[in-house]
Amino acid sequence: MSARIGVLALQGDTREHLAALGAAGAEPLTVRRRAELDSVDALVIPGGESTTMSHLLREFDLLEPLRARLADGMPAYGSCAGMILLASEILDAGAAGREATPLKAIDMTVRRNAFGRQVDSFEEDLEFGGLDSGVHAVFIRAPWAERVGPGVEVLASAAGHAVAVRQGRTLATAFHPEMTGDRRVHALFVEMVEGRA
Ligand code: GLN
Repeated sequence: MSARIGVLALQGDTREHLAALGAAGAEPLTVRRRAELDSVDALVIPGGESTTMSHLLREFDLLEPLRARLADGMPAYGSCAGMILLASEILDAGAAGREATPLKAIDMTVRRNAFGRQVDSFEEDLEFGGLDSGVHAVFIRAPWAERVGPGVEVLASAAGHAVAVRQGRTLATAFHPEMTGDRRVHALFVEMVEGRA
């Protein structure tokens, strides 16, 4: 049976992740409610705006249930804003009262919008640990990881900083594989969820 993988659908590029997960062999579901969160084997947190998503997680009463499921070992994958939210600490977290809230699923410190205003968005081919050829990485106001804990494996780097990391069955990329036709990162996550990678 294929893994039931939810995509947090409060804000952001949900549809692209649903399509990529389906193509990678999972059963994709949207998650907006507590019952939906409870029903999935794993969760993808998409790109979007981490401050807005944090606000909506609170509004939808999902913040504590999501934290609890992550603490309980639910596998997760976050791209861009999703990577920011999975971190244990966020630098430049946003305006007071509207900050992005760390879910603390990966022992790392991320900086929001790390690549700076001049280079808001760019694309680069990166080597990616475990994949036999590079990935074409699309960065959009992307974060990077400034510190990773000892249990965190760095899978890809750009500008001297970690931009793809894995800790156990949790994965994060600062870039957006869901926006290219390459399904290998989602396939890796599906394998992680199913205990095959
Ligand atoms: N800069 C955004 C944030 O802080 C992330 C951008 C993205 O997800 N493409 O959340």
